[in-house]
Amino acid sequence: MNIFSLFPAALDFLFPDRCVLCGLYIQPGHRRGPWPLCAACEEGLTAPHGERCIRCSRPLISEKEICMGCRSGAQHFEANFSLYLYQANAAAQCLSAYKSGGRRLLSGFFAERLLSVYREKHEGLPLVPVPARRESLKKRGFDQIQLICHEMKKRGGPDFLPLLRRSKKTREQKTLSKEERKKNLTGSIFPALRLPPALPEDVLLVDDVFTTGATANACAEALKNMGVKKVYVLTIALD
Ligand SMILES: [Zn+2]
Ligand SMILES: [Zn+2]
Repeated sequence: MNIFSLFPAALDFLFPDRCVLCGLYIQPGHRRGPWPLCAACEEGLTAPHGERCIRCSRPLISEKEICMGCRSGAQHFEANFSLYLYQANAAAQCLSAYKSGGRRLLSGFFAERLLSVYREKHEGLPLVPVPARRESLKKRGFDQIQLICHEMKKRGGPDFLPLLRRSKKTREQKTLSKEERKKNLTGSIFPALRLPPALPEDVLLVDDVFTTGATANACAEALKNMGVKKVYVLTIALD
């Protein structure tokens, strides 16, 4: 239990905190957790409506069950589920405040939202965090995905197993084209140096943003080469 859970309203009174979405000071009692989001903005962060592709989670337009993109390409993971759309709502703003804006307490918010999907869809599977790029670890000073997995565990969630590592300098995926993304990752994701004596059959890979699926695919391929049978993917936002 942290001090916030004992005196949340008193802390907001003494140390006013701004909401990362609306920019206003959070009024005492008007938030759901220690993270910097007011209750109204938190409520406004909703999942996309309508039918979504069962493989990649993209909203479907005229397709049935599986989107055109997933029909044409083979992938190593079973299916991805993303909580939010990156472009259309405030998820991008929250993620950037978390990753680059020093608002680490948002890890608790993401953990709670991911945990509710986990309980609904993937109960029982261990989590495997997508390994951080070395440069981003150096720049940010923390592993953003592992911190979220840790917060999930603290809330009664599953164990997380850092089964993967990155072996070479990779460029930030978001700056690259689809082809470049694949090339950038080829041969860069490997089994972690220390592995548990027995690997789980099925795992749930956790990442922040799902864009072309290249990262998830490279991780799933590495996990399957290690003997994992099924790799599901859970991400915060779909770009
Ligand atoms: Zn707000
Ligand atoms: Zn799809």
